[in-house]
Amino acid sequence: MKNYKRILFFLCIFFFFDRPGFSWNSDERYHSYQEVLSDFEELANTYPKLAEFVNLGNSFEGRKIFALRITKAQEGMKKILLTGGIHAREWLGVETTRLLAKYLLENYPNDEKIRNYLDVSEVWIVPIVNPDGFEYDRNTQALWRKNRRPIDNTGMGVDLNRNFDFQWDPPKSASTNPASDIYRGPSPGSEPEVKIIQDLISQGFSAFIDFHSFSQIIIYPWGYTSSPAPDTSIFSAITKEMSKRIAEVNHRNYRTGQIPHLLYPVSGDSLDYAYGKFKTYAFCIELPPSMGAFSFYPPASYIVPTAQENFEAVKYLMEWLSPTSPKPTSSPKGIEVIEIILRPSPAGSN
Ligand SMILES: [Zn+2]
Repeated sequence: MKNYKRILFFLCIFFFFDRPGFSWNSDERYHSYQEVLSDFEELANTYPKLAEFVNLGNSFEGRKIFALRITKAQEGMKKILLTGGIHAREWLGVETTRLLAKYLLENYPNDEKIRNYLDVSEVWIVPIVNPDGFEYDRNTQALWRKNRRPIDNTGMGVDLNRNFDFQWDPPKSASTNPASDIYRGPSPGSEPEVKIIQDLISQGFSAFIDFHSFSQIIIYPWGYTSSPAPDTSIFSAITKEMSKRIAEVNHRNYRTGQIPHLLYPVSGDSLDYAYGKFKTYAFCIELPPSMGAFSFYPPASYIVPTAQENFEAVKYLMEWLSPTSPKPTSSPKGIEVIEIILRPSPAGSN
């Protein structure tokens, strides 16, 4: 299966990848870590009253994990966090978050909904949570997923989306084998990349979208159990509306549901951490394709349409969080510890 995917990957490179000059005018290609970093620095320089480049800390191999903080306010009342690239091979999430930063800044003057939100609130965008794995996947070994911290003779790297310090323990929803693609790490929050994102999340965000690929679904906590979260009705309403607005752009249908219902149980993931510890409304959008041969490496022609349709999902979240917009009734009664119901889980994209 892996060889089959590798062959397809190289076919993609030969037939679809187009690499003209490095500029915002040639968006329809996949970018390197260094290019995305330069683009974010350039955006901060171009929009100094709206955007600030923030160095959050370093990866295991010493690359900056960086963010763009976008707001017109000194201190935003509410915050949305958008992240991509926690899994090395999921390039479309990096490109989507990269373009979302650009779209938000470009559309601020003319889009009243964006202005209403950004005038008093903040959007934080971290396009490459796992820069070491991302560069390794691009340059050395296709289909890499984890970070690049050596564990022992039996394995290299930790699945960062099984390493967060919330419900890290449930069996069968992560692996204890360092050779596994879903190895959870030696202890909760052991990885430098995860510590950085945990610190960021702990600043308190109203909402969070972690972009992955592939499956074309929008999923929400809990991941570690099939039992519903206390705010399931809100999660369900928000994701259905996101899916509706996404579909209006390119007629692509993103299915919605709780993580184990659409994928498999997932423990120690960023969504459960954000929601379980800080009551952040947390979502994972598994970008296109829904299935099929391209899997993690769709042609570069996917990049702009995917970013455009997901821009509508982000705008809906901003609208929903804006002080003037009506809200569904919430039930923030705290997080209950719910009976753990687990099924055996294969490795996958989340
Ligand atoms: Zn993923």
